[in-house]
Amino acid sequence: MIAEDSPVIPSITSTNDNCLGKDCPSYKDCYVVRARKKAMEADLVVVNHHLFMADLALKDTGFGELIPEVDVLVFDEAHQIPDIASQYFGQSISSRQLQELAKDVNIAYRTELRDTRQLEKVADRLSQCTSDLRLVLGEPGYRGNWREMVKNPPVVRELERVAEALDLLHEVAKLSLGRSQLLDSAFERATLLKNRLTRLSDTCIPGYSYWYECSKYHFSLNITPLSVAEKFREQIEAQPGAWIFTSATLAVDDDFSHFTHRLGLQPAKQLTLTSPFDYENQALLCVPRFLPEPNSYGIADKLVEMLSPIVEQNQGRCFFLCTSHQMVRDLAEGFRQRLTLPVLAQGETSKQMLLSQYLELGNALLVATGAFWEGIDVRGQALSCVIIDKLPFTAPDDPLLKAGSRIAVCRGAIHSHWFNCLTRSLP
Ligand code: SF4
Repeated sequence: MIAEDSPVIPSITSTNDNCLGKDCPSYKDCYVVRARKKAMEADLVVVNHHLFMADLALKDTGFGELIPEVDVLVFDEAHQIPDIASQYFGQSISSRQLQELAKDVNIAYRTELRDTRQLEKVADRLSQCTSDLRLVLGEPGYRGNWREMVKNPPVVRELERVAEALDLLHEVAKLSLGRSQLLDSAFERATLLKNRLTRLSDTCIPGYSYWYECSKYHFSLNITPLSVAEKFREQIEAQPGAWIFTSATLAVDDDFSHFTHRLGLQPAKQLTLTSPFDYENQALLCVPRFLPEPNSYGIADKLVEMLSPIVEQNQGRCFFLCTSHQMVRDLAEGFRQRLTLPVLAQGETSKQMLLSQYLELGNALLVATGAFWEGIDVRGQALSCVIIDKLPFTAPDDPLLKAGSRIAVCRGAIHSHWFNCLTRSLP
């Protein structure tokens, strides 16, 4: 099993950007192609939301499809669909894509086109300009309003330099078309990225949220439609059959309209099933009021100190769910020093392996983030205590949240989901 954050993963991942498709010399033996073929012939296909949406987007372009036409579609955890659909019906460009493009052009020059030195120069220039744009976008870990940011003169200047470098690379690559498969595929990507960058530079189109996000070395620029209702409805009409949406958090006060409006659904039937759990007698919710702010210095140590006796008393059988990877690392280290019970941490191996180790041990504390907040089913006594470091609300200044003005409803939905997680495993 490979750890989730293994550096080998990007090198063995097939994406739209790096797959050569039918031009690939390994096309006939390719595992990805075989898996897609198998899926097209299967009676039952299980995929995640992202793959389903990627398939819709691909069908939309007329370039092909990954998932066969089916009679019944069942979406579990369907409350995630509106946000995921927004990503696929929007557009984005990232520094990774630009750097990968520059890298591939450089490889094409070094391996097959040694007589075209200009390729190396334009690739290096694109790579440098992309890094310079990252530098003027500010602090890492921030998601901001691109419409505002693009008024900033240094950002305008660096964005223009990236656009010019991309244009130049496109022109130079065009001169060597037909001489290298790698360069031909890079040329197609350069065309696509040029169009996206033009689209993202024009921030006047209404009905979209324009936003950017930065990590330490990378950035992404994104446009997301404020409503996917019309497009999603078109997809439903184009694909006959039953569409079933299920989740613990689709309704707010027994009313599904917030969810159905966002996806443009006109449900034939709606059903709320009450929980089989006796919350009143079997669940206990504790909210310590004396803790410092969630982001304050030394909070992980305080949590370890306060909660170690509870985890010990409970004989492990406990999930500690965090909202950041840093917190996972700090807590795992702290608990390992204090507890005699086994402590598992997300990232150290794959999610499935972690879960099976947790079940096998029977007395472990699992410290995790993201992937373990939902979609996990641990039955019986194996999970009887769930601790969270804070409620996973999106920051109020998040550009997408602001654009959608959905704060109140999101809180209701997330809170009820969180409470459900907390009590899900009780007998
Ligand atoms: S077709 Fe070739 S490039 Fe694409 S995923 Fe398969 S082996 Fe990789």
